[in-house]
Amino acid sequence: MTVPTVRLNDGHDIPQLGFGVFRVDPDETERIVTDALEVGYRHIDTAAVYGNEVGVGRAIAKSGIPRDELFITTKLWNSDQGTRSAFDAIDLSLEKLGLDRVDLYLIHWPRPDLDKYVETWRALEQIKADGKTASIGVSNFHVPHLERLLAETETVPAVDQLELHPAFAQRPLRAFGASHGIAIEAWGPLGQGKYPLFEMLPIVDAARAHGVSPAQVVVRWHLQSGIIVFPKSTSRERMSQNFDVFGFELSADEMAAIDGLDQGMRVGSDPDTAT
Ligand code: NAD
Repeated sequence: MTVPTVRLNDGHDIPQLGFGVFRVDPDETERIVTDALEVGYRHIDTAAVYGNEVGVGRAIAKSGIPRDELFITTKLWNSDQGTRSAFDAIDLSLEKLGLDRVDLYLIHWPRPDLDKYVETWRALEQIKADGKTASIGVSNFHVPHLERLLAETETVPAVDQLELHPAFAQRPLRAFGASHGIAIEAWGPLGQGKYPLFEMLPIVDAARAHGVSPAQVVVRWHLQSGIIVFPKSTSRERMSQNFDVFGFELSADEMAAIDGLDQGMRVGSDPDTAT
């Protein structure tokens, strides 16, 4: 099965469906990412702060999958914002991953209180120019943060990775991304188990109609909405299920009903005030 790709604003392609490793135990990461690669995932989303880049790297090395068939994202943690510290942070991430470059490097949070994200973005531009990442992007950036990058730097972020699922659909940020060529990635795409998404009627109805699980419907909603998505599961059975979403299509009515679930409620930290 071929996962569709999204063309980023710098010409690189990203697999639209990937696998996330937030809160995956570092000691179990190698096994879990090995499972994910065997299931068929080729896009892995990690971060320095997850503490599991070494396990991701070991699974990649062991897999024997050619490097150019993989898409690896990692993220710069808040305490590494700044110029020198960003250069050191990417070098450490690459060392842990056992790679000479990643495919996408993100500023994990804007942390407006630090007022360093513009400087940090310029460091990421240099990191890209040095070939240590193919693409650069941001995560948890709101419109004013993006507007500052657009006004004060040379590079439009390739992606903005946001808390996003049917009950928190982030419409204004998605519209901003669409009008500026910034692809949108969803974190917590299944609501992290904190929303009763899998009991919401439009999702349950669609699952029944297509003979799939509610989780598969939610992944499908992301894909059909043009969002890049990387659900997390430590169970191989659920990883397979979340990857098996190309044998059915939600109708326009089903998509509209699921769109109607947006409550504008976040479960994670607010990027404007997170410290
Ligand atoms: P998620 O929405 O993917 O939820 C994961 C949870 O959903 C699992 O722990 C499991 O309990 C449940 N689940 C998974 N598959 C299921 C299935 N088929 N049926 C029933 N339940 C199922 O949450 P997440 O892991 O937080 O988000 C995905 C990825 O996004 C992360 O792993 C990470 O890579 C990224 N992320 C980024 C940020 C950020 O600030 N940039 C924050 C959180 C997560």
